[in-house]
Amino acid sequence: MKLVKPKKHLGQHFLKDQDVALAIVDALALTDKYKNVLEIGPGMGVLTQYLLQNNNYQTHVIDIDTESVQYLREAYVDTGLKIIEGDFLKADFTQLLSLQEGEQFAVIGNFPYNISTQIIFKILENRPFVPEVVGMFQKEVAERYAAKHGSKVYGITSVLTQAYYNIEYLMTVDATLFDPPPKVQSAVIRLTRKEHLEVECNETMFYKVVKTAFNQRRKTLRNALKALGINYNNIDEVTLGKRAEQLSVAQFIDLTNTLEGNK
Ligand code: SAH
Repeated sequence: MKLVKPKKHLGQHFLKDQDVALAIVDALALTDKYKNVLEIGPGMGVLTQYLLQNNNYQTHVIDIDTESVQYLREAYVDTGLKIIEGDFLKADFTQLLSLQEGEQFAVIGNFPYNISTQIIFKILENRPFVPEVVGMFQKEVAERYAAKHGSKVYGITSVLTQAYYNIEYLMTVDATLFDPPPKVQSAVIRLTRKEHLEVECNETMFYKVVKTAFNQRRKTLRNALKALGINYNNIDEVTLGKRAEQLSVAQFIDLTNTLEGNK
């Protein structure tokens, strides 16, 4: 029987380079920490085929596209692949893989770029389950996640994500390696969860401080933080003279703790 390939839908860009596909799968580094891997948006399975070659974990995939799911069901029959048809953003994270309570899994994927930020947010919210993520993003988005303080693209997403995960920029993937080629360049990053699941300060306050500081990123903190309406007289001059993009995640946490004490 000849397999019917799914029609390409808007927003679907299939990776065609096998070396890159294998390198992405090989980038999962903490395979002793979990027995399950979830691939988001497998499409026609370019990553899936390599995930299935690793016997250290069970591979699960979730795709919203009925035709892709149909294709995978036929192409990977009897391989042990667990296929979920659905929307990752709407799925109940804890029930997704029908795992035992407390079991962790890695997330991998050449993510649909229009929802990649929401995918990462959902993972951040569910971080106790996810020690590691390897994902392909639009290059600019990947750079923002991985950016260190001092970089022009270091911003709210960088800080809020790096509060919980260490992020490594692994490789740039040229648009010509996809079918159809997207208009943007792509890049792969790895997120490795930090030891502390919580930030060592009040989380709500932390979000507020980071957002307030970056909302006026050209201003010094002395001016930008006024919007918080909290006394910050006891914050040192050096810190107050800096702009948001010059502050490391640890410094944002310290700043939050000081401000919290001033309330
Ligand atoms: N990983 C494949 C396909 C990438 S295209 C490859 O590299 O070739 C992105 C895939 O994500 C598509 O198959 C699309 O159907 C799927 N997708 C889009 N939105 C989704 C969602 N909300 N939940 C799950 N999958 C989704």
